[in-house]
Amino acid sequence: MTRWRLKCTECGREWLLPVSFRLDEMGRLYHYCRYCKKNTFHIVLGKVSDEPVHSVGGEDSSDLRDELAE
Ligand SMILES: [Zn+2]
Repeated sequence: MTRWRLKCTECGREWLLPVSFRLDEMGRLYHYCRYCKKNTFHIVLGKVSDEPVHSVGGEDSSDLRDELAE
C-alpha cells in the first residue's frame, strides 16, 4: 500500500498516512492530526515507497496449493 509523508502545518510534525489516493495531486490535505487532536491542513511531502518484504508466508501458500491439487 502507498504511504504518504504528511506534515502538519500547525504542529510541524511529520507522519505517514497509508492511503491509495494520489495525494501529490492535491498538494495539501485537510486531515485529523493525532498530535493536535483536531483536523488541520497537512503538506504532502511525498510518497513513501514500501521496502521489499521477503514474505515468510510464501512457502506456506505453495504448500496450500499442493493440498488443493490433491
Ligand atoms: Zn498537528
